[in-house]
Amino acid sequence: KEELNIIQGALELRSKTVEDVLTPLADCFMLASDVVLDFNTMSDMMQSGYTRIPVFENERSNIVDILFVKDLAFVDPDDCSPLKTITQFYKHPLHFVFNDTKLDAMLEEFKKGKSHLAVVQRVNNEGEGDPFYEVMGIVTLEDVIEEIIKSE
Ligand code: ATP
Ligand code: ATP
Repeated sequence: KEELNIIQGALELRSKTVEDVLTPLADCFMLASDVVLDFNTMSDMMQSGYTRIPVFENERSNIVDILFVKDLAFVDPDDCSPLKTITQFYKHPLHFVFNDTKLDAMLEEFKKGKSHLAVVQRVNNEGEGDPFYEVMGIVTLEDVIEEIIKSE
C-alpha cells in the first residue's frame, strides 16, 4: 500500500545517508567562476532546467559559490557580464555536509536553513598524503523527499 511505503521511507531517513541519495559531481550542471554571461551560457543554464547552479573555480571539485537562476533577472546577455559580478553581488551562502549525514538530520537542516541545496564532502584518507576533503556531489531537499515518497 502507498501509505506503508511512505511510512517505510520516513523510517529509512534514520538509517540512510546523504551519500545514498546525492547527485554525483560528474552529473551536476555547474558553471566555471570565470565564465561570461553571454547568450550561450545563459541559454545553457535555462535549458539545464535547474534552479540552483553550483559555481566552481579551476576544477569541478572546488565549488565556491551557488547561483540561482532568479539572479539572472536583471542580466542582459548583450552586456556579457562576468559571472563573478553576479555571485559577488548576491553572495548566497554555500552549505557543506559530510557524506555520512543521516537523511533525518539533513531534512532538519533544510527546514532550518534558507538554502535547499548542500554540497556533500567526505574525508579522503586513502593513499599516502594527508587526508583531505573531497566533494562527492550535491544533495537537495528534493532528494530527501524523494526517499520518503518513492514507491517500491
Ligand atoms: P526546484 O524544484 O526547486 O526548482 P530543481 O528542479 O532545480 O529545483 P531540485 O528539485 O532541488 O532541483 O532537485 C531535483 C534533482 O536534481 C535532485 O536529484 C537534485 O540533486 C538534482 N539537481 C539539482 N540541481 C542540480 C544541478 N545544478 N545539476 C545537476 N543536478 C541537480
Ligand atoms: P576546525 O574545527 O578544525 O576548525 P572546521 O570547523 O572548519 O574545522 P569541521 O570541524 O571539520 O570544520 O566541521 C565542522 C562543521 O563544519 C561540520 O558540520 C562540517 O560539515 C562543516 N564544514 C566543514 N568544512 C566546511 C566548509 N568548507 N564550509 C562550510 N562548512 C564546512
